[in-house]
Amino acid sequence: MADARTAARKEILTLSPYVPGKPADEVKRELGLERVIKLASNENPLGPSPKAVERVKGMALQSHVYPDAAGFRLKSKLSARYGVSMDQIVLGNGSDEVIMFLGEVFVGPGDESVMPAPSFPVYKTAALLMGGKPVEVSTTSDGFLDLEKMVASITPRTKLFVLCNPNNPTGAMVDRKGSEYVMKNVPPHVLVVVDEAYAEYVEDPEYGEVLPYLEQGRNVAILHTFSKIYGLAGLRVGFGLMPAYAAALLNRVRLSFNQNAIAQEAAIAALDDQGHVLRSRGVNNQGKEFLSRSFASMGFKVYPTWGNFIMIDTGKDCLMLFQALLKRGIIVRPTAAWGIMTALRITIGTQEENEVLAEALKEAIKEV
Ligand SMILES: *Cc1c(COP(=O)(O)O)cnc(C)c1O
Repeated sequence: MADARTAARKEILTLSPYVPGKPADEVKRELGLERVIKLASNENPLGPSPKAVERVKGMALQSHVYPDAAGFRLKSKLSARYGVSMDQIVLGNGSDEVIMFLGEVFVGPGDESVMPAPSFPVYKTAALLMGGKPVEVSTTSDGFLDLEKMVASITPRTKLFVLCNPNNPTGAMVDRKGSEYVMKNVPPHVLVVVDEAYAEYVEDPEYGEVLPYLEQGRNVAILHTFSKIYGLAGLRVGFGLMPAYAAALLNRVRLSFNQNAIAQEAAIAALDDQGHVLRSRGVNNQGKEFLSRSFASMGFKVYPTWGNFIMIDTGKDCLMLFQALLKRGIIVRPTAAWGIMTALRITIGTQEENEVLAEALKEAIKEV
């Protein structure tokens, strides 16, 4: 039977479906396990703020009412917190939606988007969907962004210059000098996009956050999410801070009700609970130290990290090691999808989860 298959845009055929972390329930079902520890998607092991949970319950009664399309309450909160005006904020159904908006607005057929590799896969999707060309620049052997090479890859066709800071999956950060270098050397026809999904975990005074450049009126878009330290991944809340002209353009492609009402209110409550953020960062710092030490003592290459995850290279086939850990009830992220065949990205969990993981890894590695 004839169908409309051949009518699909050719760009669609260049996309590969996103491979998410394996859900814990699926593993329980498939392997008949009672307890499964998921350290695959960089979720907050402490869960959401209890205050956000209370707000979600209260909002359920308002489920028949459309969300505020302008997101006034959340934007006011973010405007005060980041010192930007409300017309510089774009709300997204997760920050990955904002990445897609950036592609839709700025990238046309044949246009280029410079990005690190390995990194968050949505940057590539956003370019490919529009017929653009992702220009991927390899990170250094320790997983740091090669900023000089990235800048050298800019051409007259470049529309977006994407940094992920800290970088997922390697964990490395861009420091102040790095950000300054980028802001000084990227030409004005290119929008610098900095994904700061893990910024709240960074305590290093050398962290090169780019908000000051936005405040100076520079051409930079900053992405943030409530999915990581705020523990609201299931609700889908993210946002971008950018020059007002860019926000106005993105709002043309944004659907009115892209961010749901419950998510908006939960995000506000989560912002008000900085105690939860502090505790989450504390648990992460402790776990980072414990796991880095454990992994190094097992003889693995440990990539330096500023996020809530650690990439390690074990020298063993990562898909087999992934399966061996799965059998033991632990889900991690093999890096095969990034073309790295011997590494794992492991989310830092609670102390107890980290200890279970470390023991399981010692056993699993003997099997592969
Ligand atoms: C998790 C993540 C995001 C966004 O997540 P959303 O859930 O879509 O808000 C964005 N960038 C990076 C690098 C991430 O790791």
